[in-house]
Amino acid sequence: MREETAMESAYEELAPAPAAAAVKGGGGSKKKKKHRREGGGEKRKKKEYRLVSYHELPDYMKENRFIINYYRSEWPVLNAVLSLFSWHNETINIWTHLLGFMVFFGLTVLHLGQYFPQVADLIGHLSWPISKVAENVSSNIGDVLSGAAMFMQTSPALASGGMAVASQTTRWPFFVFLAGAMFCLLSSCACHLLSCHSHRLNVFLIRLDYTGIAVMIVVSFFPPIYYIFQCDPQWQVVYLSAITAAGVGTVYALMSPRLSAARYRAHRALLFVGMGLSGVVPAVHAVAVNWHEPRRNVTLAYEGAMALSYLTGTAFYLTRVPERWRPGMFDLCGQSHQIFHALVIAGALAHYAAAIVFIQARDEMGCPAK
Ligand SMILES: [Zn+2]
Repeated sequence: MREETAMESAYEELAPAPAAAAVKGGGGSKKKKKHRREGGGEKRKKKEYRLVSYHELPDYMKENRFIINYYRSEWPVLNAVLSLFSWHNETINIWTHLLGFMVFFGLTVLHLGQYFPQVADLIGHLSWPISKVAENVSSNIGDVLSGAAMFMQTSPALASGGMAVASQTTRWPFFVFLAGAMFCLLSSCACHLLSCHSHRLNVFLIRLDYTGIAVMIVVSFFPPIYYIFQCDPQWQVVYLSAITAAGVGTVYALMSPRLSAARYRAHRALLFVGMGLSGVVPAVHAVAVNWHEPRRNVTLAYEGAMALSYLTGTAFYLTRVPERWRPGMFDLCGQSHQIFHALVIAGALAHYAAAIVFIQARDEMGCPAK
């Protein structure tokens, strides 16, 4: 549970019995440090650092009445950050999307490394001792940024080893997707980690989380639309502008305090589902245009897996299954939101796999001369 000193000790003493049972470790030396820090404000700090039950929460944090215990409530930011390494009812929600972010970050570095020797160098540097990395970090970042700028400008002709491949298509729509996915996953992490701090931060982070979801949906359209309709640019413009406008409109609507209210939870989810399902229109168009394309079934299978993951995840999110069947039983592990997070990662990875196929196909086929 909490690796940290003051939090851990105060928590061990005051947490309800089942919560205390989840705590591991916590030695005598830690308690001494706690007493040194606490001084006169012992009573106040105990109240802040212990995990509380649903009924003790301020109204703005009462979001899921089927999760009964292990809430952090109005914790200082530092304690909330350190709770990354302890057990409470948001631990798995935080880590599922933090690990997802790390996976997408790794994929991004890997793909950048395929196109820029500078990034390959950077990966090599990262295996050096920490001190060596610290010495070189500023110049490495400079290399990466200049490489990225060069890539955006001269995208079609770059390849590994400095060899130009004439048919290689631009990669920016793919990197837009990877960047958006990382933004979404990291915003979600920040929201689950820190929204227990205060009402103000809670409102801000929830809005950031909504923005992250809308960004994820919009950027998910970029690789398929761009590569499928690369030879018919007017359709790229139509579909990508439409989904971007829908994303901006959705974010704008969700910023209104009215729609942020707990009772509009289902409406918010349906707005996102509507955005995602609008992809059916370009998908039907794409299948019709590429009916004889041999990779049709592979990409449809990946995108079908993505849609199934997202929709199933949303169903768990909305129905709050399984915790509604046994309130309190899934407080730490197995709650609907954790399942939803895992399915979001699965959906994003399926979409990533489809994007790779779209890129390969376009690299091989190019566009017919008109
Ligand atoms: Zn979440």
